[in-house]
Amino acid sequence: MSAHLVIAIDGPAASGKSSVARVLARRLGYVYVNTGAMYRAVTWHVIGSHLDPSHSDAVLSLLESTRIACEIEAQESVVRINGVDPGAELQGEQVNRAVSTIATIPEVRRQLVAMQRAYGEKADSVMEGRDIGSAVFPETPYKFYIDASPEVRAQRRAKQGLQDSILQRDKVDTSRRMSPLVIAEDAHVIDSSHLTVDGVVGEIVGRLKLKGLLAADF
Ligand code: C5P
Repeated sequence: MSAHLVIAIDGPAASGKSSVARVLARRLGYVYVNTGAMYRAVTWHVIGSHLDPSHSDAVLSLLESTRIACEIEAQESVVRINGVDPGAELQGEQVNRAVSTIATIPEVRRQLVAMQRAYGEKADSVMEGRDIGSAVFPETPYKFYIDASPEVRAQRRAKQGLQDSILQRDKVDTSRRMSPLVIAEDAHVIDSSHLTVDGVVGEIVGRLKLKGLLAADF
């Protein structure tokens, strides 16, 4: 059990979970933790070091000499690699293309999951990712899985002007051996295809009221 409350928000790429998790965290006064950014930061470093993301031994030896710091600033998670916050470069095309490969490496997952659990010791959080409810905090009673149709998800990425082969990422994310993207048995599933961010947040808040975490007049 973690010392603090964790609300787990999982789902496939471009399902809208980042916007939902951020707004929900603000409303609750919790810390917003983006675990995808952690896998992206490692990927950014691997690419910047001119390594092939599929060479796991080379990736792991790079990590041995890498300082990964996961901090909280302005109530949000921030990842620094050797003191540097990659910022917007985390959403770059090269990172999009390689991140799911990096996320299949078990030792990378073990290191990052340990850091995600450390957030659970620091503050109440809304944590988004792929395996938060199923593997990182399986004991939390607050689990949500946000989905959307492939068409809507592709439109959302296109609107953001980002090149991202989301179906390819989903395929790798759902088929990897260690903690793949799955719907946790006790997760509440929300299809966000025809909902606004506030609509999804409203549904989660309603559910948290039913579970007794929030007062009826919240
Ligand atoms: O959420 P985001 O799309 O930024 O995540 C990028 C990638 O990081 C995912 O496609 C997945 O490969 C990996 N990831 C993961 N487990 C998490 C969060 C992200 O494997 N908890």
